[in-house]
Amino acid sequence: MKHFVSLFDQAQNFEFFDAWESKSDDERIVRQRKMLAEYLEWASHLGFYKSRLEAVDFKKDDPLEEVPFLTAEMAKEHLPPVNEDLVHPGQRGYSIFQSGGTTGYPKTVVFSASEMDALDLPNGRGYYACGLKPEDRVANLFAGGSLYMTFIHINEMLERYGCINFPFAHTADFNLFAQSIEKFNINVATGVGSTIFNLMAKLKEQGYTYQFEKIFYGGEHVFEEDKKKIADVYGTQEIRSLGYGTVDTWYIGYQCNQADSGVFHLHDDQVYAEIIDEVSGKVLPPGEVGHLLVTSFPRRATPIIRYRVGDKAMMLKEKCCCGRQTPLFKLFGRGDDSFRVGFDTLDYLELKNILSVFAGDIVNFQMEKRKFDVKDQLVLNIETAKEGQSSELAERIIGQVLKNRTTLAKNLKEGSVHRPIVEFYLPGEIPLNPRTGKFIKVKDLDK
Ligand SMILES: [Zn+2]
Repeated sequence: MKHFVSLFDQAQNFEFFDAWESKSDDERIVRQRKMLAEYLEWASHLGFYKSRLEAVDFKKDDPLEEVPFLTAEMAKEHLPPVNEDLVHPGQRGYSIFQSGGTTGYPKTVVFSASEMDALDLPNGRGYYACGLKPEDRVANLFAGGSLYMTFIHINEMLERYGCINFPFAHTADFNLFAQSIEKFNINVATGVGSTIFNLMAKLKEQGYTYQFEKIFYGGEHVFEEDKKKIADVYGTQEIRSLGYGTVDTWYIGYQCNQADSGVFHLHDDQVYAEIIDEVSGKVLPPGEVGHLLVTSFPRRATPIIRYRVGDKAMMLKEKCCCGRQTPLFKLFGRGDDSFRVGFDTLDYLELKNILSVFAGDIVNFQMEKRKFDVKDQLVLNIETAKEGQSSELAERIIGQVLKNRTTLAKNLKEGSVHRPIVEFYLPGEIPLNPRTGKFIKVKDLDK
């Protein structure tokens, strides 16, 4: 049997996880251009991309600027079971996964075996940067089964990393889970934030005193104030994101132990990222916020070029103080986490800021849009402890929203929208997306 060298041991040959993170900007940019050219050549063998790629111009700083971008809806029309236009003609055999969507049939994602293996690099880089050690004992709580992808490749990477791996998945039997973490001294949880936080709350509620020291989450944004709350209540020392990406594209970023919440290093050997102004179509320079598009080099079975991720982001000018040379970007959450109520466009992140004055009362909230009698209504579904649920709190919350959203207040005065309402839930009571285990921040029956 070949001697097994763990990913952690391999990383000891480098300053960080691998050589790429220490390379200078000049060297990385030259290599990235080569990767891009080679990748576009590969994709041009698909009828779908052939004409789109005629607009590529390598003489420009932004060679893809004129290439039409790919949306989730468009991809859905060109992937199995609808069509196979986006599957490379040379591809034999693959796994089908599903992604996204809380309603309707989900989107298909095609991954070959070698693509699944290639995820070891961004996974390893991400876990290494956020501080996973060989002595750590890790509960993998990502979603698996039901065509969900993440659990499988995280499991594979954890096996190779050189730590102790406990493949629970998000559907783990609670009693088995609670007993195991105590008996095996499991100190790290990895999974979607809301899955982990709900399990921790349940452990506490049921009288277990054991909690995780470190949480490495993925799949959704965890706000700084929520991290503080978790650290205060459970004594958690580290709460970091091992990576940011989407199942439709690839890993896009990873966090080190110096990065603020929402700031990531770009995996610029894995993806070619562009931040664009959707109105002008121009690629924006560092410091400007726009929509994120990615081209994913390792995706060979179904080449992904200029995929509209659906998130807003901004490249940062400065380098990270951790010493990694890979550029930093700041993520502004789902560009799509918003809806209109009357003439006001409400964004989740903004409402979260508005409601931050109630941080002690609100454990979690979901914004919902209802419509009846031809008028919109904003509903705030709020998780809070039983004793905190009062009509007085509900009124203060509505007052705070109306004070900060003048258009909404004006529409209410004119009678063109219904008065916002608050509906209370106990912590953990708002149903999660049954397939992904993620918290549903925005509920809009129109979408
Ligand atoms: Zn860093």
